[in-house]
Amino acid sequence: MIAFDYVRPNSAKAAVDAITKDASAQFIAGGSNLVDLMKHGVVAPQKLVDISRLPLNSIEQSGNNIRIGALCLNSEVAEHALIKEKLPLLAQALNAGASPQIRNMATVGGNMLQRTRCTYFYDLAMPCNKRQPGSGCGALKGYNRMHAIFGASNSCIAVHPSDMCVALAALDATVIVAGSKGERKISFVDFHRLPGDTPEKDTHLQKGELITAVEIPVNDGFAKHSLYTKVRDRASYAFALVSVAAALDLQNNTIQHVRLAAGGVAHKPWRLMAAEKYLKGKSPTESNFKAAAEAAMSAAKGYGYNDFKLTLLPNTIIHTLKTIAGV
Ligand code: SF4
Repeated sequence: MIAFDYVRPNSAKAAVDAITKDASAQFIAGGSNLVDLMKHGVVAPQKLVDISRLPLNSIEQSGNNIRIGALCLNSEVAEHALIKEKLPLLAQALNAGASPQIRNMATVGGNMLQRTRCTYFYDLAMPCNKRQPGSGCGALKGYNRMHAIFGASNSCIAVHPSDMCVALAALDATVIVAGSKGERKISFVDFHRLPGDTPEKDTHLQKGELITAVEIPVNDGFAKHSLYTKVRDRASYAFALVSVAAALDLQNNTIQHVRLAAGGVAHKPWRLMAAEKYLKGKSPTESNFKAAAEAAMSAAKGYGYNDFKLTLLPNTIIHTLKTIAGV
């Protein structure tokens, strides 16, 4: 057993202070990923700062934004009446993730910070630049069926595993964080990072910063026409091969606004900007959806075992948009 210290501060400020003072300390809330990582020996924090009892678990609407506390459980958010009515895409994505037991433990903030499920990352006998910088990437020429087709580097081709985050990227969410210098806001699409030469860093959070909430703008058109499609190897408790979060604001048979993001394809939830740009102002037809999917794939690259995603993702984009639009 590897010993570690454990503290449970009673305020966000005390939590930030506790973690800032100790370079190896980590926050823990539901622990549904961190405890696994510790058991596997992938990480070994010398101190855990338990934030699970901080008052960061409310869901409320203020003006045009819905604010979700970082310690809300995934299951609470998915079942909350306001979320089901105003942000059904988020509820669908949450219910597509993990298992009921894990959704009852995992928090919104923890979901954002979960690590990749690349099997080489968890296998201490294999090289992995994310786990041990400079050791190499076992997946690059290995069994990379689950890996990225967008934004990868020669250092890492892992994907971010979250479903919830794909919906939050599509919905233009903002992450609220508290740090020793006060509060700041990070656009969700800029929260996670691409691997580049430093794949050990998953996000743009600074050391000591605590996620306190996420804010999502409400769009009634998106609430009426949105869908999360997850393609996976089995019907439940499996990570996405690919997933698509899509929302259309349709008026007079014209796409006024559109949001599209994909999961299981990049180191971060992958916003499909080129497809969005193509569809804006067009009619919701199968031919337009096919052209948008083609635009979305222009920068895609397979690594061998994951080449099937180059076909699966555009097909999933088209299927999702056709289902929403009823064409
Ligand atoms: Fe590690 Fe990334 Fe390579 Fe997986 S893809 S082995 S996480 S460096």
